[in-house]
Amino acid sequence: MRIFSPKRYVASVDRIDLNTLWADGKRAILLDRDNTLVPRDTEQVPAGVSAWLDAARAKGFKLCMVSNNWHRDQVMSSARELGLEAISHAMKPAPFALKAGLKRLGATAEEAVLIGDQLYTDVWSGNFAGVDTILVKPQATQDLWYTQIFRIFERRALRDLPCEE
Ligand SMILES: [Mg+2]
Repeated sequence: MRIFSPKRYVASVDRIDLNTLWADGKRAILLDRDNTLVPRDTEQVPAGVSAWLDAARAKGFKLCMVSNNWHRDQVMSSARELGLEAISHAMKPAPFALKAGLKRLGATAEEAVLIGDQLYTDVWSGNFAGVDTILVKPQATQDLWYTQIFRIFERRALRDLPCEE
């Protein structure tokens, strides 16, 4: 189903070429937190991810973390650490938090891309909000119990979608 299809499927955030995004007219990046930027097992942001965020900022991209995580302190502290705007309790796949993120960044849906590790929250919300989506592989195998259930359907849905390494 199209609503569950990401525009691209890439191995990890730091493999996404910023020059290509910029050339495509993208100026704002909405980012999922858990298992996209911050691994659920170690909670340590990989150096490559921090460097990628710095490079994005240096290029002129506006960045906002949009997280379903209910622990607001956790979300805000990693947002501070990474120098990002942030919205917690996003309730993706609902599109409202994405729209709030765009408003905060002063960007249109067309100018934005959403990067996340889940089809049924991140990609779905992006498609609802009219924002291009890039699905990445989850950083860790550790997930919330209900996410593990969605992963079963996700694996099936992604069977024929090659991942850009
Ligand atoms: Mg996630």
